[in-house]
Parts: sequence; structure tokens; C-alpha cells
Amino acid sequence: MDIATTAEKIRAGERRALARAITLVESTRASDRVLAAELLGAVGTDRQALRIGLSGTPGVGKSTFIESFGKMLTGLGLRVAVLAVDPSSTRSGGSILGDKTRMDLLSRDPNAFIRPSPSQSQLGGVARRTREAIALCEAADFDVVLIETVGVGQSETAVAEMSDLFLLLLAPAGGDELQGVKRGIMETCDIILVNKADGDLKAQATRTCADYAGALRLMRKRPQDPDDFPKAVAVSALQEDGITAAWDEMKALVDWRKEEGVWDARRRDQARFWFQEEVRAGLLSRLTSDDAVKTQLAALEQDVASGKIRPAQAAEDLISQLFPTAR
Ligand code: GDP
Repeated sequence: MDIATTAEKIRAGERRALARAITLVESTRASDRVLAAELLGAVGTDRQALRIGLSGTPGVGKSTFIESFGKMLTGLGLRVAVLAVDPSSTRSGGSILGDKTRMDLLSRDPNAFIRPSPSQSQLGGVARRTREAIALCEAADFDVVLIETVGVGQSETAVAEMSDLFLLLLAPAGGDELQGVKRGIMETCDIILVNKADGDLKAQATRTCADYAGALRLMRKRPQDPDDFPKAVAVSALQEDGITAAWDEMKALVDWRKEEGVWDARRRDQARFWFQEEVRAGLLSRLTSDDAVKTQLAALEQDVASGKIRPAQAAEDLISQLFPTAR
């Protein structure tokens, strides 16, 4: 791969070059990592898309929503990229988010780019490769990058940490139960979308929406946001109802944050966060791949297990040896 030419093609918005580049950043081979770093350097950082994270359990209507939301956006003349983060696909043995029949119309739209989640063979570094894929989409001048995740494990938190806006898609609930949505994720999300507000489910969806709106009001308000956020909105992805209204809410929040300077601050915080994560992960991986350290770790582990030395002391001994001048 010629880096300069590929970078040029990506910046010109060529989708095939973008797809190949994303394959490159997803690769864990050492030689590919070198190329990926070069390519990311070559595409620049001067372009910004609106990064929207979208979470929801399987079946709630994410792909249907992305299809109608994406079509609405491209109808407005915006270019939309869709990335999927799906660690669970490695367990189910296939990429459920990579299903070709999903987002059928959007995938044929020249102003849309849909990237299924990586296959089983590309484990590890989910957060990093997603951030790098986002960077490539921004370089390719997409206006909106949607990052989709199923609400499991750490992927949801990671996606929230790389998004400007975070949406939670929920189904209408029976009674007043709040579907066991984790408090943390309620606090993280900017807009709850209660989907399937149509037909027989419409009344239930409206009630669910009110329940969540009430729950959100009880939570500590984020001082940087307008008083009525985070909010809950009822939509029907299937009937394309409420989608424009949801977009209007997103734009209102984005405009507010930009005016208040919160937008830039958030991106700066996120950059710092990921830098620290990378340092931590990088150090740990260097350490655990170093033979001398591995041997010593094993020896100390035995000593700790047999009670010869206390765990904290053993750790301190090891670390002092690694950084002899630090004390
Ligand atoms: P995902 O697994 O979250 O991507 O969910 P899908 O988009 O595949 O949708 C799961 C099922 O819910 C499908 O049968 C959809 O047709 C249906 N569905 C999605 N959105 C709506 C909606 O707004 N209203 C209704 N009634 N059904 C919907």
C-alpha cells in the first residue's frame, strides 16, 4: 500500500480506499501497525465529523434506526459513516452486526459508508481500532460518524468516551420497570430514544418515554448542558417517525455545547483519556511480553502464594527494579 496515494484517496472520499484503510488499522500484525500509524499521520487531523455513539440491546431496532436516521441525514446532503463495535460477535462465532441485509438502502446510498464489525480473527484493541476508523472517516470528510454498539460490557463505555453525543435506544417497557438499564449508562447518555412508538406499541412507548424522562430528571444534572438534557424521545425507526425531531434535539445540544465551549473541552478530555489508556495498555503489554519480567513475575507469584512475601511488597520490589531511579 502506498501511503501517500491512499491518504489522498481517503481525503478525496473514495470509499474503497477508506475500507482498505480500516482493514489495515484493524490488523494486529506488527508490520501493519507501522503502516497504519503512517497512514493515520498522513491523512491529517484537520477535519471533524459529528461522532454519535448509539447503544442498545439486540432487537431494539438499531439497524432499523440507523437506516432511517442515515437516510434522513443523507437526504439533508450530509455524508454518513456507520461503524460497529461488537465484541460479542467473537462469542456468537460470527458478526451479527456484519449481516449484509442490514441497512440495505443506506448501504447503497453513495453518501453513506457502512463498516460491519470486524470478524473473529481480529480480536483485541477494539477501542483503538474504532478510534482509528473514526479518524479515517473524518479524514474522508464524513459529516456524521455513527458508532454502534450492543449494550454489553466495556464497549458501551468505550463508545461513549469516543463520541460527541451518546444515544441509548430502548424498547417500550411493560409497567413501570426501567428495563434494568444501568444507572451509569443513563448518566452517560445524552438522549434516550424509545423506539417502536407505533401501532399497538405506541401508547406503551409514550409511557416508557415519560418514565425515563422522569428518571433522568432525578439524576444529577450535568452543569454543562441545558436544563432539559438528557432527554427521552419516542421514535419509530420502522415508520420513520420522530427521526427528524430526534435529530433536531441532537443539533440543539451540539450547538449549545459549541457555544459554551463544552464541545472542545470534551474532545480535549477524551484525547487525554485515550492517551492515558494507551500508555497504561502499552506499558502492560511491554512488561508482560518481556521474558525477564515474566520470569520474575512467576517467581514472585510463588513467593506471594506461599506467604513468603506480602503481595504489596512483592509488587513494590518488582516495580522498584524496573524503575530503579524513581525512588
Ligand atoms: P437491532 O438488533 O437492534 O439492530 O434491531 P433491528 O433493527 O434488527 O430490529 C429488530 C426488529 O425490530 C426487526 O424485526 C425490526 O423490524 C423491528 N423494529 C425495528 N424498529 C422498529 C420500529 O420502530 N417499530 C416496530 N414496530 N418494529 C421495529
